[in-house]
Amino acid sequence: MTATITEPSFRESVDLMVDRAMCVLGLDEGTATAIKSCNAVLQVKFPVKIRGKIEVFTGWRATHSTHRLPSKGGIRYAPYADQDEVEALASLMTYKCALVDVPFGGSKGALLIDPTQYERDELEMITRRFAHELIRKGFLSPSTNVPAPDIGTGQREMAWIADTYKHLHPEDINYIACVTGKPLFHGGIRGRVEATGRGVQYVAQEFFRHPEDVKSANMQGSLQGKTCVIQGLGNVGYHAAKFLSEEDGVIITAVIERDGALINDNGINIEDLYQHIIAHGSINNFPGATLEENGIAVLEKPCDILIPAALERQITMENADRIQAKLIIEAANGPITYGADEILNKKGIVIIPDAFANAGGVTVSYFEWIRNISHIRLGRMQRRHEETHGLQVASMLEELTGNKISDSLRKAVAHGADELDLVRSGLDDTMRSAYQQIRENLLKNEKITDFRTASYATSIEKIARSYIDVGIY
Ligand code: NAD
Repeated sequence: MTATITEPSFRESVDLMVDRAMCVLGLDEGTATAIKSCNAVLQVKFPVKIRGKIEVFTGWRATHSTHRLPSKGGIRYAPYADQDEVEALASLMTYKCALVDVPFGGSKGALLIDPTQYERDELEMITRRFAHELIRKGFLSPSTNVPAPDIGTGQREMAWIADTYKHLHPEDINYIACVTGKPLFHGGIRGRVEATGRGVQYVAQEFFRHPEDVKSANMQGSLQGKTCVIQGLGNVGYHAAKFLSEEDGVIITAVIERDGALINDNGINIEDLYQHIIAHGSINNFPGATLEENGIAVLEKPCDILIPAALERQITMENADRIQAKLIIEAANGPITYGADEILNKKGIVIIPDAFANAGGVTVSYFEWIRNISHIRLGRMQRRHEETHGLQVASMLEELTGNKISDSLRKAVAHGADELDLVRSGLDDTMRSAYQQIRENLLKNEKITDFRTASYATSIEKIARSYIDVGIY
């Protein structure tokens, strides 16, 4: 954490950013307080016997809002986790879900642990015990509170959680929907692992579809050839960097990791680097770039796009003035503090905020949850029907025109959408529609001058409407 002590905490930082939007909307104080308040926070301490010794672990699950159910949000395993962070992340989930029209409340969980210090079997015991606590205390079920992966957790942990819930609730036909981000053969959905990074790519693509927005960030043209610095090559960062470089022609000029940064102005091959990290556990000695030991300083490297995809509070009042990117896409949650946000706005740097930029994960989690409660793979009923229909259309065109359709066109027309096609299409549509709603708010309200305030305003309007329509009970 690089923030100086004079800056507000992560939770206060989120609240201050939200206040800015609430002020623009002129929301009454009661509704504003109701929206901002965290509904419930559970702290658990539980013992697990590790290598013959009893260790006591501390975990949290915060339910920020329940205006829609279930409440949704990841579980992270980190040695620096605390309640303030969990509450901040839970509140971000509320705004995020509303923004992308995912009908869930906001929640988040964390376990204070350094997962690298434990063996697989030990992590399984700890995870099952943590899940047990959350389930028994009403903070985990398919209908009320559904976790997903976050920092330090992945498909494996989600499978252990689902299995623990199943053992405690064998009568619940929807048990598999108690958690998302599961492995494919345990109720997961195709496209979930890469969903957040894919969502970041779709956000960047949509931004570059609007020349006026590109101009406002002092750039022109398309994504092709734009330079990009990325911080964190974990789940989110790896996929975002891979898709942007391999599919959109973005040049990744630096990758910042926990052990330094790699720089290559001609572009770093992300797949090669990722395989290097898997093989060696570090970015050190990667042949395709130069190592800079002071990783965080590389956030200040001039580039078109900066993507923080690691931790919160990386751009603070201490380094904000030295940031030289034209566009920042917040793939991580809370990478910019409130004070830094104000500095960056004054500098004219365009920021696509976390509440929108990394919403791809929860969007595809929503698709997975729907798949789980409907007990059927997306596209299973339609795929072959679409294929037959496409072939009939192709034959009809041939008959009417007397011309033969090429094999590649026939194949394309007769392609029935499978689950991955549907997930990608649903995610792309979600990110584009949300961008357009945010943009509309930015253009129509002269008091709104940045994407973050426009995003929160868009989201808060929807949440407030649900409170006003239903009333407070
Ligand atoms: P992850 O654990 O897979 O990856 C985090 C990466 O950051 C790792 O490669 C780690 O080595 C690196 N890192 C750690 N400390 C660093 C430092 N000081 N400097 C540079 N790099 C550092 O986690 P993730 O799932 O990719 O999550 C990253 C961010 O995205 C978090 O803020 C998380 O809340 C957010 N997010 C994740 C998802 C998701 O679906 N996984 C969804 C929405 C938001």
